[in-house]
Amino acid sequence: MKVLIVGNGGREHALAWCCTRGKGVTEVLVAPGNAGTGTEPGVRNVPVAATDIPGLIAVARAEGVDLTIIGPETPLVMGVVDEFTAAGLRCLGPRRAAARLEGSKAFAKEFLLRHRIPTARYRSFTRADFDADWVRAQPAPLVIKASGLAAGKGVVIAPDTATALATIEDMFAGRFGAAGDTVVVEEFLQGEEASFIVLAGGAHAMPFASSQDHKRLGDGDSGPNTGGMGAYSPAPVVTEALHERIMREIIAPTLRALAIEGMPYTGFLYAGLMIDASGAPRVIEFNCRFGDPEAQAVLARLRSDLPALCNAAIEDRLGEYVMEWDPRAALGVVMAAEGYPGTVQNGREVSGLARAAELPGKVFQAGTELRDGRVVTSGGRVLCAVGLGADVGEAQRAAYALVDCVAFPGAQYRHDIGHRALARTP
Ligand code: AMP
Repeated sequence: MKVLIVGNGGREHALAWCCTRGKGVTEVLVAPGNAGTGTEPGVRNVPVAATDIPGLIAVARAEGVDLTIIGPETPLVMGVVDEFTAAGLRCLGPRRAAARLEGSKAFAKEFLLRHRIPTARYRSFTRADFDADWVRAQPAPLVIKASGLAAGKGVVIAPDTATALATIEDMFAGRFGAAGDTVVVEEFLQGEEASFIVLAGGAHAMPFASSQDHKRLGDGDSGPNTGGMGAYSPAPVVTEALHERIMREIIAPTLRALAIEGMPYTGFLYAGLMIDASGAPRVIEFNCRFGDPEAQAVLARLRSDLPALCNAAIEDRLGEYVMEWDPRAALGVVMAAEGYPGTVQNGREVSGLARAAELPGKVFQAGTELRDGRVVTSGGRVLCAVGLGADVGEAQRAAYALVDCVAFPGAQYRHDIGHRALARTP
């Protein structure tokens, strides 16, 4: 069986690495991939952009690909699964209609409200129907979100009304392009965040091991929001009781409602949740794909056959499977380029990868490319070093041992990934 992974980040390196271990898998292709997927045994990069849907279909046909797994949200929101399916090709992910859960925050909020699935109170506006008086009447802080895809950057927490109004004006003025034509303004939720990721297929949803990421750039959760600076799994915040509650109050009603509305969901569904002091979960956002860097930590622990699970999801046979996990904890530390999450300089040489490969754990690559046989940086998040251990503390030591091995000029990373889990450990 040949598998094609679409995307070029650390998540896609983890997906590809995981798929090489699937039964009957002869080769894994990655479009377009990075230096990590380009040098991974059993994996080959193909030079097609993740958003070039005709190009992806052509590769899948020419290479005789049996299963395509979509990593990032943009091709999903563009309708890649609809087009693969129409071409008679098997592709894991939600169709365009269901991918709107991520592609339009206004759509997601209306959907949640319509089905009484718990989330923050909100209103959405375009410039034409904007109501500044409503905003002035809301208690601060307020959360302002560009409704469309903004590469994880379209969310601003406004500490006061003046900032909220200025941010909304900025979004209408085009700071996030067309993504900000509609703006969602919502109540600020207190609590602890958790990510909950399931593989959905037809009538079934199979939860992945729990995980938690670290959005802020700096130690102690300081500095600007990023795509994610590290993650660990399992996340002790998601107790067994909370897991049940999330499945019952969030995941099951969401999948049921999508099916009732004529857009049944297949693929990875990621719920970003806020757990309040009473233990009640509320939806902050949905993503229609696996999280990054959650994928790196979670998939490092997966013992089940991922391509088999993906095929089962597509064929509504997930009920025949259970997911098996390495009982150890996994923890991933993201090494980012200088300047991230702002503008970064590419082309800096990454050293020490061969030495790191001799240590336990795994360094997944993200913003890297091969240039004359050398690995150089080519993006904001460059690597994610994943360690495994008997508990989060041991996994953390293993991950930082990997980080100590690799280097590139201007590398920045957090020193405290896993701090919430460690604070919970007696
Ligand atoms: P999102 O892109 O929607 O996940 O938002 C990015 C980050 O902003 C989240 O991970 C939260 O840390 C924060 N955030 C978003 N919405 C809210 C909210 N309603 N209350 C508090 N924090 C929020």
